[in-house]
Amino acid sequence: MFQMVGLAQGCFDHAVPYTRERVQFGKRIFDFQGMQHQVAQVATQIEAARLLTYNAARLKEAGRPFIKEACMAKYYSSEVATLTTSKCIEWMGGVGFTKDYPIEKYYRDCKIGTIYEGTSNIQLSTMAKIIDQEYDS
Ligand SMILES: Cc1cc2nc3c(=O)[nH]c(=O)nc-3n(C[C@H](O)[C@H](O)[C@H](O)COP(=O)(O)OP(=O)(O)OC[C@H]3O[C@@H](n4cnc5c(N)ncnc54)[C@H](O)[C@@H]3O)c2cc1C
Repeated sequence: MFQMVGLAQGCFDHAVPYTRERVQFGKRIFDFQGMQHQVAQVATQIEAARLLTYNAARLKEAGRPFIKEACMAKYYSSEVATLTTSKCIEWMGGVGFTKDYPIEKYYRDCKIGTIYEGTSNIQLSTMAKIIDQEYDS
């Protein structure tokens, strides 16, 4: 999960400066409100993934139950990495798709996050099993 948060943040950190430099229709593409809202949404999702990850780590370190929270962090951070890298390619237009920039590599690398160490489906099933147990008592 830390890898996926780092991957999403790294990709975001490469793409946002580009949107602040690239000029189209007489202004920076970052200055279009349609772009700004997307950037802010992705920044929020990366921050949420980071906090879910810290929370799972905090619970484990404190010796408290953490499996549901770890599943949430793993599931969410890998989904956020997938969304972030896809958005970053779009924000950079055609060059985002080329090997001239590292974005396409982030886009390829993120996909493993939803597969290894438990696929997203398995994370969701584990969460649901624990939620079911929580409502038994
Ligand atoms: C690059 C890479 C590195 C890896 N590293 C390791 C490693 O170091 N150690 C290790 O042990 N393994 C490793 N793996 C294996 C990885 O953990 C498995 O690929 C992963 O758990 C999925 O298993 P599978 O490939 O057999 O897919 P399958 O189990 O065949 O799943 C295929 C699809 O069916 C879905 N599915 C399967 N069962 C259910 C179910 N019960 N409910 C709902 N949906 C379901 C899955 O979510 C997935 O979408 C690695 C894989 C890759 C690609």
